[in-house]
Amino acid sequence: MTQESPLLEVENLEVHFHRGRSFWPGAKSKTVRAVNGVSLTVHPGETVGLVGESGSGKSTFGRAVLRLEAPTAGLVLFEGVDVARGTRGDIATLRRRTAMIFQDPYGSLNPRMTIGDALAEVLRVHRLVPVDRIPDRVGELLTLVGLEPAHATRKPGDMSGGQCQRAGIARALAIEPRLIIADECVAALDVSIQGQIINLLMELRARMGLAMIFIAHDLAIVRHLCDRVAVMYLGRIVEEGPTEAVFTAPRHPYTATLIAAIPDINPDHRLPADPPPGDPPSPMNPPPGCPFHPRCAFAIDDCRGGGPPTPKGDRDHWGACLLPPSVFSPSFQPNDEPPSGDV
Ligand code: SF4
Repeated sequence: MTQESPLLEVENLEVHFHRGRSFWPGAKSKTVRAVNGVSLTVHPGETVGLVGESGSGKSTFGRAVLRLEAPTAGLVLFEGVDVARGTRGDIATLRRRTAMIFQDPYGSLNPRMTIGDALAEVLRVHRLVPVDRIPDRVGELLTLVGLEPAHATRKPGDMSGGQCQRAGIARALAIEPRLIIADECVAALDVSIQGQIINLLMELRARMGLAMIFIAHDLAIVRHLCDRVAVMYLGRIVEEGPTEAVFTAPRHPYTATLIAAIPDINPDHRLPADPPPGDPPSPMNPPPGCPFHPRCAFAIDDCRGGGPPTPKGDRDHWGACLLPPSVFSPSFQPNDEPPSGDV
């Protein structure tokens, strides 16, 4: 991993929503802890995968980092500036240096605007090139993402899903960001187009030194693309580490179950294991103890009380589970333990 100063440092980020507000006096609203004390660091040029089931808080985390959602508590340091409590100028800088790519390639573009006008608007608002250079820069951006300059005259409805997603990436790149948050950005596309978009992101990352948080529930893509992985469950990160270490020797039973459920295209391999049984508990009413205990095949009595387990392992690769990894992860031998203790 690079030793440069972090580009992004998130510390104990909390994002709460209040549900069920009522006009009646005395009626109580419930608090949804969508993001519940998440810390994450991203270095320049690094791609971090953020994985977990729907509702785990991944997208809310991404939106809060970019101040599209107001954090309830915690620090978000971008280039050393706390944008969670930043001035308007700090937020404006954040907007110029970060971008988001959304899941829905059609919904993220204005259907009444041509792609060229959408890109030109970004260039104009952020004053990135002289006005007379804008048409050329639009053509360059479209070429960069594998489209033709002639696509500038088309509207989203005239293009395929893959072409629209490329246009969305071009719009994200128009501001020359240092950090992109890609939120399930290939989930709505055909598999063959997914591959093209992933290859494009890898190429752009290498060429432009972009850092990326890649939010996804598809672990096979994350393994292909990311340097590090953080696994979210019920608003918390339960495991974090270098991608290969997490995939070959997971330190949390939830991660192990997600990995075991990855479909394998080799017909000689056994069928994937089932995903974790049942649904995640409601973030309005999380269980005591380890939040994963109602679905965990390895849960013991100690898992059902107290607070969430503290992270164990080392700073580079840790998991928040009470048990030693050899219990649920065949790559760990009992001799490898105890893991180096609380992180
Ligand atoms: Fe399962 Fe207990 Fe570990 Fe939680 S702490 S993941 S319930 S074994």
